[in-house]
Amino acid sequence: MGNVDLHLHTTASDGVMSPSKIVNYAKDKGLVAIAITDHDTIDGLEEGLSEGERIGFEVIPGIEISADHSPGSMHLLGFLIDIHHPLLRQRLKYLQQARAERNPKIVDKLNRLGINISFEDVLRASGGGQVGRPHFAQVLIEKGYVKTFQEAFERFLKKGAPAYVEKMRFSPEESIHFIREAGGVAVLAHPNTLQMGGYQQLESLILQLVEKGLRGIEVYYPEHSAAEVAQYKALAERNGLLITGGTDYHGIEKNGLDIGVGRGDMTLPYSMVENLRAEQRRQLR
Ligand code: AMP
Ligand code: ZN
Ligand code: FE
Ligand code: FE
Repeated sequence: MGNVDLHLHTTASDGVMSPSKIVNYAKDKGLVAIAITDHDTIDGLEEGLSEGERIGFEVIPGIEISADHSPGSMHLLGFLIDIHHPLLRQRLKYLQQARAERNPKIVDKLNRLGINISFEDVLRASGGGQVGRPHFAQVLIEKGYVKTFQEAFERFLKKGAPAYVEKMRFSPEESIHFIREAGGVAVLAHPNTLQMGGYQQLESLILQLVEKGLRGIEVYYPEHSAAEVAQYKALAERNGLLITGGTDYHGIEKNGLDIGVGRGDMTLPYSMVENLRAEQRRQLR
């Protein structure tokens, strides 16, 4: 039936390929379906969906919401969302305002650290899409302040680093709620970034989220070790949760990573899409 990739970014957020380009790229690579899951925005979906229709390639409308969580970060994927749903659109507008407030503060902090960058530099790096921290990283590299994305995050941009600025986030419950209201299936992205103390804590957090409507776990992900994949898969199976996977391909920062295959060792079957669709039908009943 072919393979898929259910976690991808475009120029609408911090990816480097336009929605049309990534749809064609996926088809050329021999995949049979993709989900476009930009951070906190659906701005790339209209273009991605219509390009999919035009070339006869299945595109799943998705999103990746950054929810409130500590000490790590929690990203929630929403698959098969209705991009016209008013609650979803209203919530995303709120998140975009939160970014608009945060981004100039990051510039300020960097300036105070003696780094000569302007908001215009960052806007240019974003290419007109939503501005995210990877665009700051790109400017820091271009201007020679750091050599790599990783260094930009470690020294300046990550949580706890000197140019980090908090932004308003919705709770996990609220994020799951508006994904589901928009007809979407909510899935926990890359559980290893939650930084939970151990397996027990992770499972109890996931079970709390399941009570709020979470329906799956992103088990297959390039940054998961083999042991983590096995652990998350067992956790999903034990609790009757869907299993998804994706490369989180952005096109720039992760050398050697490609759509569909990650660093060469990922195979994501089309049954993941069938399972998401079946789950959506159950939810809508
Ligand atoms: P933002 O949504 O603007 O806060 O940016 C978040 C994005 O920055 C993530 O989705 C990653 O693509 C990237 N990112 C976050 N932390 C790191 C890190 N430590 N190293 C590299 N990239 C990161
Ligand atoms: Zn990203
Ligand atoms: Fe993520
Ligand atoms: Fe992502």
